[in-house]
Amino acid sequence: MQKNDMATVTIEDIGVNGEGIGKVDGYTLFIKDAVIGDRVEVKVMKAKKNYGYARLMKILEPSAARVEPRCPFARKCGGCQIQEMSYGQQLAFKEKKVRGNLERIGGFAPDILDRVMDPVLGMDEPFGYRNKAQFPFGTDKEGRPVTGFYAGRTHDIIANTDCALGVPVNQEILEIILAFMKEYGIPAYDEKTGQGLLRHVLIRYGFTTKEIMVCLVVNGSRIPRAEELICRLRGIDGMTSISLSPNTRQTNVIMGDSYQVLWGQGYITDYIGNVRYQISPLSFYQVNPVQTEKLYSLALEYAGLRGGETVWDLYCGIGTISLFLAQKAGQVYGVEIVPQAIEDAKKNAGLNGITNAEFFVGKAEEILPEYYERYSQEHGGESARADVIVVDPPRKGCDETLLETIVKMQPEKVVYVSCDSATLARDLKVLCGAGYELEKARPVDMFPMTVHVETCVLLQRRTM
Ligand code: SAH
Repeated sequence: MQKNDMATVTIEDIGVNGEGIGKVDGYTLFIKDAVIGDRVEVKVMKAKKNYGYARLMKILEPSAARVEPRCPFARKCGGCQIQEMSYGQQLAFKEKKVRGNLERIGGFAPDILDRVMDPVLGMDEPFGYRNKAQFPFGTDKEGRPVTGFYAGRTHDIIANTDCALGVPVNQEILEIILAFMKEYGIPAYDEKTGQGLLRHVLIRYGFTTKEIMVCLVVNGSRIPRAEELICRLRGIDGMTSISLSPNTRQTNVIMGDSYQVLWGQGYITDYIGNVRYQISPLSFYQVNPVQTEKLYSLALEYAGLRGGETVWDLYCGIGTISLFLAQKAGQVYGVEIVPQAIEDAKKNAGLNGITNAEFFVGKAEEILPEYYERYSQEHGGESARADVIVVDPPRKGCDETLLETIVKMQPEKVVYVSCDSATLARDLKVLCGAGYELEKARPVDMFPMTVHVETCVLLQRRTM
């Protein structure tokens, strides 16, 4: 195969990024936007020795799993990757992806996986699930302000105020801001020149409380005629917090380092289960509240707490899992690298009258080993123990030193919450080689229409 060759392919598999995979005389082609079961005509864009990338030109016979995307921009927009796939097929793909990684990278045998894996936890309504959106501002060819999402792998804005994954109020807010920009000639920021003012808007919506937060990210320290914009925004039912975050650096990082309140409070509140959380513009908070509750309930179930246990929650963010577990445990320790998140975690503990949770700022792979050493010194060589250790690391997974300390602390159970099943599988292999048994694993679909999948795993210490 060579560049610009045309070919007819039947899609047989799906890649990790949601692309369709098909073969032409043994040569593998990766085709974006093609679904398993489709028969398609494609044009080769890039040809390597054993495989290539091709563009979908025409669907000759659509797959039974192909659906009409709800969003007209689904194919161009970088936000969704698999909206043209039926939701049932999406769930099957995610389950297979997690299972495949546990088998290949983790080295777990198929019969073990048959026994421990529970079916993926999906959503009843896989749209409108996000409680958070960050929209970039830009300028169209006619010089008018626009907002929407970036096209895949670029920073070209596809103008769209009605994202199918977000809440309806996003559109109302965005239309108000765009009208304000036009009326008062407030320019959008231009990434290339570093000129212009309005960079992004962060919108958060509390699904339980219906509280709304708007935070405007600006290339400067103020917005001219801000009082007029505030006046219009605060007319929206549920508006609770309007703030501004200055970000004058030429960077891909969306938010600035700080924020100032323009109107109302500096935060909104929301619930997961019966725990109440305060969320400020700069804190990490799970974006899919419906699935988060299912995920945390699963983590709690796996932890099997009876009361009285010592639990560590590593990578705890604003203490979401810690506080969930604290209701059933003796003592919970949370560790998180971002100081503001730990401030929120402490505040949230207070807000819920939870007194058995303590939080530490720092790297999990430093805090836990240091704690272990110090404990031993202070207790005449006795080892620090834990009953349950929960980890919820970012995509790169856990550090080797952290895994070693976890093993030394001999918790009865390790609950691993993961957003990347490849690093999860790698870490499970280490723990299972050091005295732990894979007991349960369940994928949870936190991000329908995208290729991402969360997994919750229970490891049990082997009885010697
Ligand atoms: N458990 C939380 C947050 C999970 S996201 C929740 O469910 O909401 C992962 C968190 O790990 C982020 O808050 C990130 O800031 C934090 N983090 C990243 N690297 C870390 C490290 N080395 N040590 C501790 N925390 C870290």
